[in-house]
Amino acid sequence: MPPFVYARIARRKADTHVRFDPAALARLTHVPEPVIGLEIHLAVKARSKMFCACDADGFGSDPNTNVCPVCMGLPGSLPVANREAIALGLRFARALGCEVPERTQFHRKHYFYPDAPKNYQISQFERPIGEHGAVPIPGGRTIGITRVHLEEDAGRLVHPTYADHSLLDLNRAGAPLIEMVTEPDLRTPEEARAFLQEVRAIARALGVSDASPEEGKMRADVNVSLRNPDGSFGTKVEVKNLNSFRSVEAALAFEIRRQERVLEDGFEVVQETRGWNEGGQKTVSQRSKEEAADYRYMPDPDIPAITIHDDQIAAIDAAMPELPAAKRARYAALEVHEDAASQIAYDVHTAGVFDAVTSAWNGPAQIVANWLLSEVAGHLHQDGRTLEEAIPDPDAFAPRLANLLDLVQDRTISSTVAKELLPEVIDGAQASELVESRGLARVADEGALGTVIDAVMAAHPDVVESAREQPKAINALLGRVMKETGGTADASVVRNLIEQRLQA
Ligand SMILES: [Zn+2]
Repeated sequence: MPPFVYARIARRKADTHVRFDPAALARLTHVPEPVIGLEIHLAVKARSKMFCACDADGFGSDPNTNVCPVCMGLPGSLPVANREAIALGLRFARALGCEVPERTQFHRKHYFYPDAPKNYQISQFERPIGEHGAVPIPGGRTIGITRVHLEEDAGRLVHPTYADHSLLDLNRAGAPLIEMVTEPDLRTPEEARAFLQEVRAIARALGVSDASPEEGKMRADVNVSLRNPDGSFGTKVEVKNLNSFRSVEAALAFEIRRQERVLEDGFEVVQETRGWNEGGQKTVSQRSKEEAADYRYMPDPDIPAITIHDDQIAAIDAAMPELPAAKRARYAALEVHEDAASQIAYDVHTAGVFDAVTSAWNGPAQIVANWLLSEVAGHLHQDGRTLEEAIPDPDAFAPRLANLLDLVQDRTISSTVAKELLPEVIDGAQASELVESRGLARVADEGALGTVIDAVMAAHPDVVESAREQPKAINALLGRVMKETGGTADASVVRNLIEQRLQA
């Protein structure tokens, strides 16, 4: 049941002070389906800006130091299209399954805004670098991609509280951006978030963008409507400038609820652009759209149309790395759970380590996934290291982890001991050598364990007493025996021996 249905029932309950009636859910004849589309901007990981030689990532420098006549829009300056950014854009378009035109072109999109020094933005209109793509997301659905195009970023306005004027920083002006627009194929806020994760993973796998919302390198606008009872699209509302996946999800959930409520109360949804108020966790009206903006697009006369040859596309396709969806499918075939498979597939380095270990080890891939995602990740998190820092060479690490997992699988060591050895194995040690030199092999010998157990029971008569009444208290005795034996005791043997002694 979609969350907004609960919300509606809950609101009725609040409004009328009557008891919530679950049967009311059954009486709802029309649950309007949300229809969601996204527009995503990604900062392209090229060395220079889209049409000049300034640093593409020089936002951190002093204001207006990463600029030149071209990106400041000075008269007479001539833009030159960035070959590297175009190549990355094409790579991304192909990864999204887009068709690429034989000729692509840059257009001027005219609007007046203080952070756009030329009073137009160089963008793409007809013949963008990609159209008609499709991206599969976890759960089996595929989201249509309307178009992908390249454009330049704007500058940044600062409104200091101490002054009666605003400040303008053009360091970011002209930085290369990819804009991608989806078909209205998404149905829930959760799905929108999953799609964003997929896009981020693709962009990172290709090295096209860092796609990090926290650094402003991935921003999203959403549009959402509720489908009419006859199946046609309802009135679309846009929410602009969402800077995190969480805010996309929250803004959509809020907006779906708000539109629901407007319709319930007998009003019509107004076509408008709204903003997201992070503090209040709500959308707020910014401007109504009485007419479509006319940007007076025209081909940029300074930038020739670009011909894209078939062999260029063939080369891009041939060099395409394995994308997250293909990885997920491969991991599903290894019987890895869907969540773990996505988590691994979404990070190129995690996937590299996982692939290396699963080919070095014969045991179940799910066990490798568990170790990587919980034990290894947990230890590195504590350590303040990334996987890439700790394991720069997955192929060297793989046999060491395989050796550790072998020792657990053949019951030479307990998993407690294995977890204790893991940090050293990550840093280069061979588990079997550590086990041998430290005498960590599992002890299942009843005589040897019996001696330890007797000593522990004698030292803790109160725990023994409660264990006779309450079987759960056996764990306390078991824990002490494990501690005494440095985690080497075979826990199931110890448990049996304790139970025998308690019953005696
Ligand atoms: Zn420049």
